[in-house]
Amino acid sequence: MCLFCKIVNKEIPSNIEMENENFLAFHDINPKAPIHILVIPKKHVDSFNEVSPETMAEMTTFIQEVVALVGIKESGYRLISNVGHNGGQEVNHLHWHVVGGAKLTFPHLVDANPQDFF
Ligand code: AMP
Repeated sequence: MCLFCKIVNKEIPSNIEMENENFLAFHDINPKAPIHILVIPKKHVDSFNEVSPETMAEMTTFIQEVVALVGIKESGYRLISNVGHNGGQEVNHLHWHVVGGAKLTFPHLVDANPQDFF
């Protein structure tokens, strides 16, 4: 069973912000911003590659509710879903990072100078 499935099953503790029948929002253990929440489907899906449009539609509503609940709807935030090796995905259970609470930077996403690829 994967790490996030264990969190869903409450075998591993987490700081839950919001929950319904199908989705869970909990605080990232290593926050990269003042607000850093992970939103996951309770039913295991490896990544965005495999998620159905129906699940994604329901998840969109859930994420919008989380964003409103934690008070960053107006100030702004960023949604990130890392996919696979190049995406830097460490936990193979679909999750959206919801980050905000301060003005976010948009640093280079590769170690090399991006211009070197062109
Ligand atoms: P990713 O690199 O997109 O797969 O992100 C995985 C995220 O899960 C990282 O930001 C980790 O800090 C976070 N994480 C790992 N273990 C836990 C945990 N037990 N509780 C909450 N967040 C976790």
